[in-house]
Amino acid sequence: MKRFQDMALAPELKAALHDLKFENPTEIQEAVYQTAFEGSDLMACAETGSGKTGAYSIPMVSKLIENPKASALILAPTRELVHQIADFIRDLIKDTPDLRATSLVGGADIKKQLRALKKNPRIIVATPGRLIDHLKRQSLKLSRTELLVLDEGDRMLDMGFAPQLNQILKYLPQKRQTMLFSATLPEKVKKLAEAYTVNPKKISVGRASLPVAAIKQSIVQLKHKDKKERILDELNQRDGAIIVFSKTKHGTDALAKNLKSFGHHVDIIHGGRSQGQRNKAIQSFKQGRSRILCATDIAARGIDIPQVEHVINFDLPMSHEDYVHRIGRTARNGAKGEAVSFVTPDEHRNWQMIARKYQIPGVELENANFRDGGDEKSEKRPFRGKKKPKFFKKKFKSKDGSESKGASSGRRPSRGGSGGKRRSRPSFNA
Ligand code: AMP
Repeated sequence: MKRFQDMALAPELKAALHDLKFENPTEIQEAVYQTAFEGSDLMACAETGSGKTGAYSIPMVSKLIENPKASALILAPTRELVHQIADFIRDLIKDTPDLRATSLVGGADIKKQLRALKKNPRIIVATPGRLIDHLKRQSLKLSRTELLVLDEGDRMLDMGFAPQLNQILKYLPQKRQTMLFSATLPEKVKKLAEAYTVNPKKISVGRASLPVAAIKQSIVQLKHKDKKERILDELNQRDGAIIVFSKTKHGTDALAKNLKSFGHHVDIIHGGRSQGQRNKAIQSFKQGRSRILCATDIAARGIDIPQVEHVINFDLPMSHEDYVHRIGRTARNGAKGEAVSFVTPDEHRNWQMIARKYQIPGVELENANFRDGGDEKSEKRPFRGKKKPKFFKKKFKSKDGSESKGASSGRRPSRGGSGGKRRSRPSFNA
């Protein structure tokens, strides 16, 4: 394997990589390097925590140093991920004064962003919503954007983001390089991606679209009412930093409140919090001021906090892909990690599908039960009108089922029978 110092990269970039202690490219970085320089489009799939950010940004920075007229745009689904990517790129360009990067996300001071844009940054990292605001205000032009990166590409192409992406594409030159990266690229998404790319090269590294093998996965079968107590046991048994994922904002808050009442130091992140609160939570957790981060799926993708040793799914995720992304917050870049998922009777079928799809060994359900909250019949034939079964009213009415601004709060969470279908999930951070 080549070392970065032996690769055809700009000297100031090599110096920055040296300072970051990046000696050798990871597998995905090595695999992408050639294509990125050749300029062809790309769809790349590699495990969570395998160095995808560097895979596109290292060649990108080198090319932008070589070509002072070119610009690049990176789109990512969450504000936190945008900040993380921009911070990494700023580390790469710290010795390159002519090359500036700026991040554009919703919930942040637009005047500050306008001031930053006046300095003509050639690297823009953005969430789609705020980027569109700037394009409409004409505070930003993308006519010199030669490189477009869709980080968490499958998420960027799903129905929540696709309309915004289509709008953005109208501002971009036709002739450009488009690169799409994710740890999960279902076949359906690969097909969708054909519309955004030209003869893309497909690169798949490691256990692409599967959870990282170094994650020890397990389940706890329990009743809904027992979760509160069981989570305390799980937390007490484990050392190190832990992310606990819940399905809803309300559920995340309630769980955090319960944990705090037992003396745990907890940070909270979900789409109902202000951007200031979200940033503070991530910082505090990253710096180890709290050991536990209670989160919704807003923290499921891309977030790189190397000290996370455990992920607990207090509720199962809505989609299979989110399972891979959630548990991928641990065991990053060759580390080890553990993931435990709470499975209530109404989640049995959902879990069976996840376990089968990802071939997870040793997590078979005991006494699988489809009656509590979803008997087998109704899973196959969804309930259509007439009198609603009691559990619908009781369990789902008060739940805030989504991160999104647009989604109806009463939407029914995923039930096992429909777990295989991809849902339209509106963007939660624009
Ligand atoms: P990513 O998947 O891009 O979030 O990267 C996962 C982790 O690996 C991050 O903490 C990176 O800083 C680290 N990393 C990425 N590439 C390298 C490399 N070539 N050498 C050392 N660490 C790396």
